[in-house]
Amino acid sequence: MALLVLKFGGTSVADIDRIRNVASHVQREADAGHACAVVVSAMAGATNQLVSLVEQAWGFKERQLNGGREFSAQYDCREYDAVVSSGEQVTSGLLALVLQSLGIAARSWQGWQIPVYTDDAHRAARITGLDVEGLKGRMLDGEVAVVAGFQGIAPGNRISTLGRGGSDTSAVALAAALQADRCDIYTDVDGVYTTDPRVVPKAHRLDRISYEEMLEMASQGAKVLQTRSVELAMQRGVRVLVRSSFEPPDLGGKATDSALEELGTLVCHEDEIVEQNVVSGIAYARDEAKVTLLKIADKPGVAAQVFVPLAEANINVDMIVQNVSEDGFTDLTFTVQSADLDQALEVLRNARDRIGYLDLRGSTDIAKVSAIGVGMRSHAGVAAAMFNALAEKGINIEAISTSEIKISVLIDAAYAELAVRTLHSLFGLDRN
Ligand code: ADP
Ligand code: ASP
Ligand code: MG
Repeated sequence: MALLVLKFGGTSVADIDRIRNVASHVQREADAGHACAVVVSAMAGATNQLVSLVEQAWGFKERQLNGGREFSAQYDCREYDAVVSSGEQVTSGLLALVLQSLGIAARSWQGWQIPVYTDDAHRAARITGLDVEGLKGRMLDGEVAVVAGFQGIAPGNRISTLGRGGSDTSAVALAAALQADRCDIYTDVDGVYTTDPRVVPKAHRLDRISYEEMLEMASQGAKVLQTRSVELAMQRGVRVLVRSSFEPPDLGGKATDSALEELGTLVCHEDEIVEQNVVSGIAYARDEAKVTLLKIADKPGVAAQVFVPLAEANINVDMIVQNVSEDGFTDLTFTVQSADLDQALEVLRNARDRIGYLDLRGSTDIAKVSAIGVGMRSHAGVAAAMFNALAEKGINIEAISTSEIKISVLIDAAYAELAVRTLHSLFGLDRN
C-alpha cells in the first residue's frame, strides 16, 4: 500500500462529467489499495469569476495609464480570500459526493478543517504548517480525503489563499506532511514540456526535470506548477509527477519508476537524470510590468530610496537596469508583477520628494523570455548565442538578468512568441 496525494486542476474538474472522470482515477488508486488524499482546484473559470465579483463589489477603478490599460484598486485582502476560496469548497464537496455515489468512502476537508496554517499575507499566503493527524488516521482507515486546495487559515482565524495556482502548493505541502510516496499533479497536459505546448507545437515532453530547472521554469512563467510548490517539493524531497487527467484512468495504474515516465514528467533530483541538455526549456511571462524613473540623481542612497518603500509595501522587484550617468543624473528601469504596478506607482509618487525624479512611467507591454538549463553551469556561450539569435530576428533586448542556470531577457510583448520559438529551435529543443 502506498500513500498518494493526487491533485486535479481547474480544467480537470470543469463540470460533473470531468469530476466523474477524476473519480475514476481515484477509484483506480483506491482499488489498488492505496491511501489517497485528493486535492482539488475550483472548476475552470470559477476563480476568475470570483475575483471579478470582488473587484465589482469594491468598485472597479479604471485608470488610464500608458496605453489605456486598466488596473484594479486595492481592497481588503481578507475579504478577497473569503470570496475566492469558495471555488475549491464547491469542488471538494462535489467530488466527495461523486465518490460516495460510487460506493467509495470519502469526505471533504476545507483548509481550516485540516488545518492548513498560513501567515497573514492574504491573497498570497505562505503555508506555515499543517496538522494532518486526524486526516491521515481516516485515510489509513480507507476513507478518501478530498481536500480543497488553495486555502488555509491565517492568524486571527481568517481564511487565506495561497496565490493563483496555489492548489499545487496545497498538494505538495500535504504530501510532505503526510510523508506520501508521491504527489501526482493531474492537469490538462501530459507533463512538463520544453516550453508551453500551446504556444510552440514543436515542444516535446520531458521524462524528467530537476527541481532546480522546474523552479526556474515556474518562476519565469511556466504556469504548469506554482513556483512555491516546486520550492517546497525540492526542500522536502517530494517526488512530483505531472500527468494528464484526460488519459484513460485504466491505463494509469503502473507504479514503478520506469513506468512513471510513460505517464508524465517526474520532477526529481538532478542526479537522477542521466541525459542532460545544455538548455532544457524556454519559459515566458507576460505578467510583468516595467517602471521607469527618469532623471534621478546618480549618487549613493538613491537606489535605497526607491526600493526600500517598495519592499515595505511587499512589492517584489525582478529585473533592474540603470542607465549610464549623464551630468550626475541617470534613468532607472525595473520590473514588478503587473498586478502590483498600480501600487508600485503610488508608492513611488508618495516618495517623490525623497527620491527626486523628473518623471515616472509604467507600462505592461513587455514580456520576459528565459532559457533554462543546469547544463549552463558548465557551458560558456549560451548568452551570446541567445542574444545573436534574437538580434537576427530584429528583437530588441530592454533588460537582462541571469542566474547560474538561467538567462532572461525583457522584450516588447509583441515579440514574445517569436522569441520563444526562435530560442526553442536555437537550443535544439524542437521535436522532429
Ligand atoms: P491546472 O488548472 O491543472 O492547474 P494550469 O493551467 O495551471 O493547469 O497549468 C497547465 C498549463 O500550463 C498547460 O495547459 C500549458 O498551457 C501551460 N504550460 C506553460 N508552460 C508549460 C510547460 N513548459 N509544460 C507544460 N505546460 C505548460
Ligand atoms: N483556483 C485557484 C486559481 O485559479 C487555485 C488553483 O487552481 O490552483 O488560481
Ligand atoms: Mg495550475
